[in-house]
Amino acid sequence: MYSVTDPASGQLVEEVANSTEEEVRVAIGRVYDAYPDWRRRSVPERAAIVARAAEGFEERADELAQIMTLEMGKRINEGRGEVGIVVDIFRYYAEHGPALLADEPIDIKGGNAVITKGPIGALLGIMPWNFPCYQVARFVAPNLVLGNTILLKHASICPRSARAIEEILHAAGVPEDVYVNTFASSRQIPGILADARIAGVSLTGSEQAGISVAAEAGKNLKKTVLELGGSDPLVILDTDDMDETVNSTATARMRNCGQSCNAPKRMIVLADIYDEYVDRLTKRVAEYYVPGDPSDPSTKLPPLASTAAADEVAAQVSKAIEQGATLRAGGRRITPGAYLEATVLTDVTPEMDAYYEEIFGPVVIVFKASDEDDAVRLANDTPFGLGASVWGTDADRNRRVANQIDAGMVYLNRAGGSQADLPFGGIKRSGLGRELGPAGIEEFMNKKSIRL
Ligand code: NDP
Repeated sequence: MYSVTDPASGQLVEEVANSTEEEVRVAIGRVYDAYPDWRRRSVPERAAIVARAAEGFEERADELAQIMTLEMGKRINEGRGEVGIVVDIFRYYAEHGPALLADEPIDIKGGNAVITKGPIGALLGIMPWNFPCYQVARFVAPNLVLGNTILLKHASICPRSARAIEEILHAAGVPEDVYVNTFASSRQIPGILADARIAGVSLTGSEQAGISVAAEAGKNLKKTVLELGGSDPLVILDTDDMDETVNSTATARMRNCGQSCNAPKRMIVLADIYDEYVDRLTKRVAEYYVPGDPSDPSTKLPPLASTAAADEVAAQVSKAIEQGATLRAGGRRITPGAYLEATVLTDVTPEMDAYYEEIFGPVVIVFKASDEDDAVRLANDTPFGLGASVWGTDADRNRRVANQIDAGMVYLNRAGGSQADLPFGGIKRSGLGRELGPAGIEEFMNKKSIRL
């Protein structure tokens, strides 16, 4: 069952029945049958439709933000900001798609060849609830320009976002069978992946979902992109403005109520500034103690996406404390609704679950590093490898540390975030493949070698 439950109040707003097996079969048939015509259209024609989709998202930004606020508790201004990035992504691929898909001549031994860049077929997208519009955009925009068709299964708490996105794309001129939303359940995914008409799958979500989808896709030899969790390190080597460092790093962690895969989740601070950082951070996060209505722009602490999510994060915090971590700030689960005070933990050691697991909520763990090498060691002591950030006043030192961090992305003197033209993705248990930028259009591409 898909449903909308307001996480600020816990009230059920709408239920939507799952697609039946027959409906799923029909949906697969539609995207499969639509592929030959869509791929035959010229790249500029598809790009023009994608450019119109950008306008559609822009026009409906307020409505989309309100839907996200209701479905998963996103603060209204963050929702508008998310739609702004979505618009950028559609515009980026509309503008750059034709150049990114141009033939690439290469000299080879004994002659010449050309690499053409074409689509591979009908794709399945499985998307999460934390950025209901952005996650879909970064999969859909490049693949529509490339010429693939799309069957989209959104998170079961986001049916309204799913419907609105489908409407916007169709209104922009994406043929109805080129982009099809399905309310399939995750139990129906193996059947979809086993269907020969589906050529590949992209999932953003939990490690568990990633493992299951990768296993099914592997069995069926389907190309896969996985964007999974992270426990990104934020390394602070030194600072000439501690207030600014504390403000920026706390804000980065609290964005989207801590539910971003690439949020900085482990602050790793050199010993000489550790006490001052922890002291100021604990004072700073107090502004995220008062629960508020996420549709009110002055709200600092919105709910998490669901009661289950808030309970799970609160349980992770309690377990860390039971296992010996020190609670420096917050930690209180607030009801009614899915609220959790911003929380700061220190003295987390490798024996504790919180050391290695991802905490997907407003929780900061601060580690003390004895020196630069120790900071790198702590940063890399994680099963994940999504993003990281390095903060300090010495640009060479920042780069030296960045080069040693095992992650798909490293940001210098800034944390996380995402933009249309910068490739995004992880290594280790954070996933496979890249989205956004030039790399994002290549994942489901047939780079065909034509020997001249
Ligand atoms: P899930 O991974 O369960 O959900 C993400 C998407 O995957 C949803 O569409 C979901 O469908 C689908 N899904 C879930 N299980 C399967 C499966 N076995 N096969 C196919 N599809 C599946 O995320 P949760 O909502 O449970 O969030 C839990 C954790 O996931 C978080 O704590 C965080 O670690 C991680 N996460 C990471 C995100 C990221 O941006 N990288 C985003 C969201 C979550 P349905 O909703 O119907 O279950």
